[in-house]
Amino acid sequence: MRSNNTRSYFLWSILFVLLLSPLIVLHQILENLRVNLPSRRPDIMLITIDTCRKDALGCYGESSGHSPTIDRFSKSNMQFIACIAQCPTTAPSHATILSGKDPAFHGIYSNGMPIEASVRLLPEFFSRKGYRTAAFISGYSLIDRVTGLGRGFDVYDDEWSTRSVERSGDDTTRAAIHWLGTTDPGVPCFVWIHLFDPHSPYAPPELFRRTLSDPASSAATDAHRAAYEKNAQTALGAGDFNVLVKDPTSLTATPSEIRMNWANYLEEVATVDRCVERLLIAFRTTGREKPLVILTSDHGEGFEKDYYFGHGDRLWESAVAVPMIVQTQDRRSKPKLVDRLAHHIDVLPTLLEECGMSVDDKDCHGVNLIGLASNSRMRPEPFLFCSAPPLPRKKLSKGLMHAVYDSRFKMILTVDQSEYSMFDLQTDPAETKNIQSDYPRIYTGLSHALSQRSEQAAYPRNARFPENLSSHETKQLETLGYLDSDAGSNHE
Ligand SMILES: [Zn+2]
Repeated sequence: MRSNNTRSYFLWSILFVLLLSPLIVLHQILENLRVNLPSRRPDIMLITIDTCRKDALGCYGESSGHSPTIDRFSKSNMQFIACIAQCPTTAPSHATILSGKDPAFHGIYSNGMPIEASVRLLPEFFSRKGYRTAAFISGYSLIDRVTGLGRGFDVYDDEWSTRSVERSGDDTTRAAIHWLGTTDPGVPCFVWIHLFDPHSPYAPPELFRRTLSDPASSAATDAHRAAYEKNAQTALGAGDFNVLVKDPTSLTATPSEIRMNWANYLEEVATVDRCVERLLIAFRTTGREKPLVILTSDHGEGFEKDYYFGHGDRLWESAVAVPMIVQTQDRRSKPKLVDRLAHHIDVLPTLLEECGMSVDDKDCHGVNLIGLASNSRMRPEPFLFCSAPPLPRKKLSKGLMHAVYDSRFKMILTVDQSEYSMFDLQTDPAETKNIQSDYPRIYTGLSHALSQRSEQAAYPRNARFPENLSSHETKQLETLGYLDSDAGSNHE
């Protein structure tokens, strides 16, 4: 009897385990799905650092240690080794990020122009999906009343622009964090933060002048900032500093001035790195889950080559190579250093598709970067392009320029001169050697792609002074160095 009871107990135990095991496995599968699958309505943070060239960051090669937060952030997320801005000017570039379209298809070719009314912007998609949307802007060239880029945002914080041409990253970050703290964490949000500090003048706050040991350099920086602010307040046009850095034909910066400006520029990068740290922390402290984050810049900054400082009218890598770091919610994604070429047109499809939306616009040629990184998504087109439309700035602009990239080579076309330059970015990332005669077959393929691009992309051949600007707005853009003070009429 005792033996039968024991056997029965044993059999029941086996049966119990057999019945329970699948339930345990099923529970584990469901738990893994719950943990690993991203929410279809994640919070989204888009950070654009104005004028931040890629190699100013530690994770892209700078060794001075000015970007510890962004470097850590890149290590635990997807860092694209190469990302190209479609246009090296602030308003066209941001319009591309927000619309997924090349400037030839969204209508903003230069600062001071409005976006076409038919172009749909990211916040419009997210509003329709129940998101709260907000933008915190730091530079005058992005103000809503000139660009129209505030369309679809619940909040477009550019009110400060009635008093100044720029806002510090510190103030912009404080405003964004305040907004995050006052919105319901139960409702998903799309928030865009634009940080402007690295843009000229390169005059960092005293706190960040760690590398400036020379008192004379520090005093010179103060003088530049004072002159700049005086110009900004009185809106009298570009001051001596801008003449110095924008026009090498009249004044040439000395090597020590170049070193001082580069050191100050890096200090401005350090300033925004602190802002990024505060923004990442703010998502945790305001009761929100890990957001989907894209961090990039609108363009780089020239400190060498055929002009000393600036951006907008050249397509060298210093002006168009930008950082691209993506944080996903998907915990199955391993941190990756991604060697597939990314573009700004990819931002919109990445954010929409990760939130369960699709892109059905024939003028949006980007792809989901997360799919691209995992090799499951190929680009439909073999070449990628960027362009520098002619600017209403007479002395430096070479007119309309296009560049084309394949996976290794880059070709630049200066349209008016029919001048081609070709570089092997694998062996010559600094673009020092024009190799167009070394690879005739590749030269033929890239030049043909550029010819097609010239025909298809409706860029103007001549610079037009934006006609919609008031005299005050014109002066403010002159103060930022975007317009010559004497460019008061169309150049046609
Ligand atoms: Zn910019």
